Amino acid sequence: MEKNFDLIVIGGGSGGLAHVQRAAEYGAKAAIIESGRLGGTCVNVGCVPKKLMWYAALHAHQLRYAATFGFDVATNPHDWASVKKKRDGYIAKLNGFYKNNLDKRGVTYVEGWGKFVDNHTIEVNGTHYRSRHIVVATGGLPGLPLIEGAEYGITSDEFFELDQRPEKVAVVGSGYIAVELAGIFKALGSDVTVLVRKEGVLRKFDTVISEGLEKAMMESGMELITGFIPYQLQQTDGGLLLIGEDAREFDNFDAVIWAVGRVPNTEKLNLEAAGVEKDRYGFIPVNEWQETNVDHILALGDVTGRPALTPVAIAAGRRLADRLYNGMTDRRLDYENIPTVIFTHPAISTVGLTEDAARKEYGDDVKVYQSRFAPMAYAFSEHKVSSTMKLIVKGSEEKIIGCHVIGDGADEMIQGFAVAIRMGATKADFDDTVAVHPTSSEELVTMR
Ligand code: FAD
Ligand code: NDP
Repeated sequence: MEKNFDLIVIGGGSGGLAHVQRAAEYGAKAAIIESGRLGGTCVNVGCVPKKLMWYAALHAHQLRYAATFGFDVATNPHDWASVKKKRDGYIAKLNGFYKNNLDKRGVTYVEGWGKFVDNHTIEVNGTHYRSRHIVVATGGLPGLPLIEGAEYGITSDEFFELDQRPEKVAVVGSGYIAVELAGIFKALGSDVTVLVRKEGVLRKFDTVISEGLEKAMMESGMELITGFIPYQLQQTDGGLLLIGEDAREFDNFDAVIWAVGRVPNTEKLNLEAAGVEKDRYGFIPVNEWQETNVDHILALGDVTGRPALTPVAIAAGRRLADRLYNGMTDRRLDYENIPTVIFTHPAISTVGLTEDAARKEYGDDVKVYQSRFAPMAYAFSEHKVSSTMKLIVKGSEEKIIGCHVIGDGADEMIQGFAVAIRMGATKADFDDTVAVHPTSSEELVTMR
């Protein structure tokens, strides 16, 4: 096998694959090293299997309301095992699809763990590969709390290995993964307790989101335990027993899910041999051009500590290839105004600043528009899942600097609004746009 390249990428996930394929299209002689399954976190243990499970949960929600529109639906328990089997098959096909894409572009695929030998050389299974540029796209791993018995719990990685749905589940954590997995379990029939160490979930998001989601979680029947710092997890005859630092105990769980954040996958890369610096959490800091402290070694995606989202890793990877191999010297990712969706029930989407962040930055120059309503889908039901939308504007021109939505359909709503906001849209631009009726999204262009 050829062992000298223009480009070696370590990590065949969202960012690494996007970069190597674009670089190869421009003529770079490129190789990619992957120790696991092609596609990385997103395809194998992230976005894709999660979204499939979210669809299962969405069906459960819709079945619940189907009777209000005249359907007589008998719902037997959900068949988790059959969905898992289909999901695994779907992902295996995607793995093959990525392999074909590499072959089509003439990218050398090296299977195994890559580690630095020096600043131009990577070793995989005893073989040395040399390259002009090296791109680190090794992503992250689920973090575990440093407590006794942590090993009795599972992380999002093992969530996707579950063959059966556990009946009674504890989810520890308050971020994206905690609320998404809790929502899936609850909708499909589990008894769910969410335990957060501070006052609530999604604390980094706008209050309409965090408060709105908490309300929806309670209404769905989940239990939310606040101020809980895990101290110990024990396996007992009755199931798993979770003990807090304040000695509170929660017991009889069939599964405890740790969703307490992710850590960068840099520990065993031997970055020292290449002189590449890490920060104190293990992330590889990069400048706006994705450059590390070593000029020809670059990094992108989750490993850099930037927003840990697939489209961010892909965009950074493609732009970097445009710059390095296609002469587009100014091409780089602008990390401002990145839209994001949280796949809960109801769904959440957001782009731009929260109200708190906007007020901190612009003070009294900030104005807020907000709307709360019950979507028409709940017209005939007693229990209505409400939607809330918030626009944050700045200055006399009322430039939109934040948009936050919680409600059915929020996931498919934000992409177009993100384009407008990125282009500098004002409240008047939103108001001058003719509404689409009857929809939920029309609220965003009719707010007063
Ligand atoms: P990864 O996709 O993690 O890829 C890194 C790859 O590098 C891995 O395949 C790993 O095996 C490989 N690797 C690491 N070290 C080495 C080495 N030394 N040698 C060889 N190979 C190595 N994002 C969204 O935008 N939308 C979502 O809905 C979403 N849902 C998510 C749900 C979950 C449960 C999780 C965990 C994440 C989710 N994300 C989502 C985040 C998204 O998956 C990541 O942001 C994205 O995968 C990052 O891409 P990456 O290329 O940086 O790293
Ligand atoms: P997050 O960073 O979203 O949330 C983790 C949270 O867990 C922290 O914010 C913290 O919240 C809490 N926490 C941290 N340590 C502890 C501890 N020891 N005990 C209890 N709670 C703790 O991380 P996730 O792992 O949920 O997700 C990682 C990233 O993956 C996300 O940030 C996101 O970028 C991406 N992702 C994206 C998705 C999407 O796009 N839909 C879905 C899933 C993941 P607090 O300070 O409030 O305690």
